[in-house]
Amino acid sequence: MRQKKVIVLGGGVAGMSAAQELAERGFAVEVYELRPIPGGKARSLPAFEPGSAAHPAVAGRAFAGPGRRLLRPLLPGEHGFRFFPGFYRHIIDTMARIPHRGRTVADNLVDTTQVHIARFGKRPVYYPARFPQTPTEVMTAIHFVIGLLTAELDVPAHETAYFVEKMFQILTSCDQRRLDEYEQVGWYEFVDAGTRSAGYRDFFANGFTRSLVAAKAQRASTRTIGNIFIQMVLSAITPPKTADRLLNGPTSDVWISPWFEHLAQQGVAYHQDAQVVGLEFKHGRIRAARIARYGREFRVTPDVLIPRPETELLVEAALEVSNGEFICDVGTGSGCIAVTLLCQRMDARGVAVDVSDAALRVAAENASRHGVSERIDFQISDCFAAVNSAAFDLIVSNPPYVSASALPGLQREVRDHEPLVALSPGSDGLSVIRRLLQDGPTYLKPNGHLIMEIGFDQGERVQELTNPELWRLVEIRPDLQSIPRIVVVQRVS
Ligand SMILES: Cc1cc2nc3c(=O)[nH]c(=O)nc-3n(C[C@H](O)[C@H](O)[C@H](O)COP(=O)(O)OP(=O)(O)OC[C@H]3O[C@@H](n4cnc5c(N)ncnc54)[C@H](O)[C@@H]3O)c2cc1C
Repeated sequence: MRQKKVIVLGGGVAGMSAAQELAERGFAVEVYELRPIPGGKARSLPAFEPGSAAHPAVAGRAFAGPGRRLLRPLLPGEHGFRFFPGFYRHIIDTMARIPHRGRTVADNLVDTTQVHIARFGKRPVYYPARFPQTPTEVMTAIHFVIGLLTAELDVPAHETAYFVEKMFQILTSCDQRRLDEYEQVGWYEFVDAGTRSAGYRDFFANGFTRSLVAAKAQRASTRTIGNIFIQMVLSAITPPKTADRLLNGPTSDVWISPWFEHLAQQGVAYHQDAQVVGLEFKHGRIRAARIARYGREFRVTPDVLIPRPETELLVEAALEVSNGEFICDVGTGSGCIAVTLLCQRMDARGVAVDVSDAALRVAAENASRHGVSERIDFQISDCFAAVNSAAFDLIVSNPPYVSASALPGLQREVRDHEPLVALSPGSDGLSVIRRLLQDGPTYLKPNGHLIMEIGFDQGERVQELTNPELWRLVEIRPDLQSIPRIVVVQRVS
């Protein structure tokens, strides 16, 4: 049975968690992430040598996982997600299933014993993160309480007492009151920060919300901040719990990168540099997401196939294998292959053909959008029928290849929404592929390449169809699920 597919938009902690949980439950998962690095806000932001080639976008790749060049940062800079309160459950559970150096990334969390708050121009504040277990921790706790009672923390004792009362109010409130009442009130207002001292505002209003969840005191709901605060206090005073845990290395090294690799092993296709630029709806349901790749957005309509990840692999293969300047795209559809290749190769020009006039109009629109109209000719043509050049360096094609018998089993969103002519040529699905292999050499220069996408079960058949007198089979590249999908053949000279 075909796997159901889920597309996850955004590859931060939420997106990666969803991807892992879904992959473990048997879904095929694709993640589209804007940046060239996984992890979103949680990722490390290392400091690189000033003036080095490590542009922020490139620097991101230092931690981007397999196949990415590793740049050594000067300092393992961090942005967010360093502390994991003792009451966290779900993220820890997910981390406990990510292998790392013979253990799991959850084993990279270490309990904290005390919290240290640095302050501008003032002595730092220390307080225990767990019920004191050593003489030093007992002293820390005593000093903290004395600091609160003597206004050494710049908060008058009566205001500290007021704050404690407010916390007691939350602690003794039922869930319904928290939801109905506290959800509607900002933390700043709830703790009555506006009428109190600057020290009170700094410490109990702004300081808490910023350090706990990087939130603004005025906007953060009392329910959220109150629940977090109460849970942290309860963890700190209940042995052997601790209020907080920390990662024992840079976040990307000990969490995000192992996670990214684990997702790849689970078959998750995580696309970096992929910006979701819009969603398309039909009958109130999301029909497609519009993704910009290589910094370029392609408009897609029902007349053309939505560009899929395999197509992106085809473009990558074409850019790697051939540096040819004259390109033919057979069955161009939205034009995304030809247009991307011309955008990547400023000296290239091409011919793009399709049997569908409507598809060619979309392709021409996309060529114009990306400024390559001058370098590409669009022609109505059934395969090579109307092509009159025999000097291409490269032929690319994402031909219709679904067999008639496989059509009913396609995912509904593909079968019911994609144009049939672009999906299937009927019968065994190989008729266009046969024509490309038979006629391709006539239109290619000696040593020119043909690169085409094939169906998930067509690898062996295509190898048999590849006449060694005409072609050298360079490779059949696997897709992100290790299925042979991108055929690269070279014309025998
Ligand atoms: C300074 C700071 C410190 C923090 N410290 C902690 C902490 O110690 N402990 C803790 O538990 N939490 C902490 N947090 C909160 C925590 O980091 C976030 O809750 C968490 O990382 C959010 O993950 P997310 O996946 O929901 O969002 P994000 O990390 O924002 O991920 C969203 C992703 O979507 C991508 N994206 C956006 N637009 C598009 C688009 N159009 N197309 C494709 N992709 C797109 C983004 O590039 C990003 O990777 C902190 C937050 C900050 C800001």
